[in-house]
Amino acid sequence: MFKLPRALIAVLLAAISLQAADNNPPRRPARNASDAELNQAATQANTDPTAFRKFARLSPHVHLDAANRAHVICQALPAGAQIGPDTTPFTGTAPFPLTQTFLLHSRPGAARVIYLDFKGHTTTGTPWNNSTSAGASFTTPPFDLDGNPTAFSDVEQAAIQEIWKRVAEDYAPWEVDVTTQDPGVEALRRTASSDTQYGVRCVIGGSSAQWLGSAAGGVAYIGTFGGLVATGAANDIPAFVFPAQLGNSTKAIAEAAAHECGHTLGLYHDGTTAGVEYFGGQGNWAPIMGVSYYKAVTQWSRGEYPLANNTQDQMAIIGSRIPLVAADHGVNSTTATPVAGDSLTAGGIIRSSTDGAWYAIQAGVGPLSVTALAASSSPDLKIGLTLVDASGGTVATATATGLNGMNASLSANLTVPGAYFIVLKGVADGTGATQYSNYASAGRFSLAGSWASLATPPPPPVFPPVASTLGTAPTSGPAPLTVNFSSARSTQTNGTTLRYLWNFGDNTVTSDLANPTHIYGRVGSYTATLTVIDGINLINTTSVVINVTTAPVTPPPPVTPPPVATNIIDVGAMKAGWYDIVNGRPVRRESDHDGDDDDKPVNRYHPLAPQGYFYCFITIVDVAGKPVSGATVSLTASGLASGKVQGRTDRLGQIEVVTPRMSATQKGSITFTVTGVQLSGKVYDSTRNAVTTVTVTR
Ligand SMILES: [Zn+2]
Repeated sequence: MFKLPRALIAVLLAAISLQAADNNPPRRPARNASDAELNQAATQANTDPTAFRKFARLSPHVHLDAANRAHVICQALPAGAQIGPDTTPFTGTAPFPLTQTFLLHSRPGAARVIYLDFKGHTTTGTPWNNSTSAGASFTTPPFDLDGNPTAFSDVEQAAIQEIWKRVAEDYAPWEVDVTTQDPGVEALRRTASSDTQYGVRCVIGGSSAQWLGSAAGGVAYIGTFGGLVATGAANDIPAFVFPAQLGNSTKAIAEAAAHECGHTLGLYHDGTTAGVEYFGGQGNWAPIMGVSYYKAVTQWSRGEYPLANNTQDQMAIIGSRIPLVAADHGVNSTTATPVAGDSLTAGGIIRSSTDGAWYAIQAGVGPLSVTALAASSSPDLKIGLTLVDASGGTVATATATGLNGMNASLSANLTVPGAYFIVLKGVADGTGATQYSNYASAGRFSLAGSWASLATPPPPPVFPPVASTLGTAPTSGPAPLTVNFSSARSTQTNGTTLRYLWNFGDNTVTSDLANPTHIYGRVGSYTATLTVIDGINLINTTSVVINVTTAPVTPPPPVTPPPVATNIIDVGAMKAGWYDIVNGRPVRRESDHDGDDDDKPVNRYHPLAPQGYFYCFITIVDVAGKPVSGATVSLTASGLASGKVQGRTDRLGQIEVVTPRMSATQKGSITFTVTGVQLSGKVYDSTRNAVTTVTVTR
């Protein structure tokens, strides 16, 4: 007994069980299979059975393996064939640094991957092994142009980069990363329906003679992109491209890679009902799923050419397995990508015949030019470029240039400044037997343009201010006439502040007030002028005539005293004097200062009186002159005696204030002053006082 490795046992058991399940050979032409077998193949490929049966019956190159899975063995270049535009071996310069050759990604991070595997690959545990090599592994050598498979020359790396660019352009509309960097098997195989990271490995290298046993440009299992592979030993199921059968042409290798990956996405051959399996195209165009080695422009198709036998909507079928990329531009006039300034540099992807890249610009009067470039090497997008005005009218359309007319250049001389749209779309080309539609005119573009700046709007016209004396009043009347001049109706349009200058016309003063008052003293007719000056020194003048007439003789109006409030009180009288103390009793000796005969000289005091004192009577009255009792009177004394005192009036409205006794020999004055009167409900009005202060001298 010997011990087999556990993995090998599993493979052998699987192979045995397949053989036991049915008696089908490892590989047989699908056209001879039963409808049931073809339906089973279509189901495994996740494709429409009716369309698949039609394709399988027509094509001798579709095969079923023992498990009734379908694969296609696709056309090689006939020996010695010219390869369309590429008639010589590739000698180009790499478009990217050589260090990037195996790091190229068309959409880094995308969940779907097309891995262009140039580095050589050992295929193990796939249907290919069962159908071609009795389950044994086989190895594809690295991509090799110079007979040295152990190293990648500069030319080989340049060719790899070129092939990658072409395939990336074919798949540009979809969210798939076409890459030259090994993403690892888990990024390629789909092990469960919940597995969202998957794709296809396209092995590019060697010759179909090495393991396939027949001449082929490439081979692929149909519909494997996104199909579930068994867990365990199962690996990703590659598609293969054989440079040896493609003349080592970079274009042919790229076309074959796009074609074989198309099979893995469920696409069939584009042929004709006249028995042609691979339609070679018309004009400079050919379908990728026909034979596209000989035409410059190669696109996906839906069978729009004469006698087409395949009307698969190939863009939609790819889109059913790989979502379209999100728009990287506005897609109509409403969502147009705004462009500031007077130039534009942009790039993006046109995803379908209904997509369009809209850019909103503001252009001034003058020349406009826009140049749009499709992907270099092998564009799928034929660019249509139009300039649309704000109302949707087409202002200019582009001329096709370069790259088989795929680029576009537009120029216009704008006479109307304003909003425009630069609109880029995929378009059709040719007429009649040389035409292709815009169906698959989709791919990468770059865009550059410039136009006249939208000029700064001209400054608003400058108007001088307007002077107005409306509102001046009065404009006539007897001297002296006071006139209120008004400039309020004057206006200006320059957003500045007006200044004013009045000349009243009577050779007196002038005024720079807005609304001055002037008095005309003399009879006459005067022309008053108003000059207004705005902030930029623009001037306007107007005038108003003032007629001053002789003053009429009119009696003065009767004077009616203003009504007096009835609650007012005031000082009705003050009387001050000196008392001698005579025999202990006061004897009034002094004048009452009321101007009548009893006013005696103040120094006629009793010669015997050694002492005395000053007194002051204050009488508070109301507006009728009647005494007011109960009023609090405040007063001050100054001079021979000083101080403050307060007291209430008696029934006679009087209060008497006296000083302390003092020697009768004191000489001098004393002044009494009322400083306040208060009574609840009354108002003290000192201006009505008959007297407020009184002075006595002795
Ligand atoms: Zn094919």
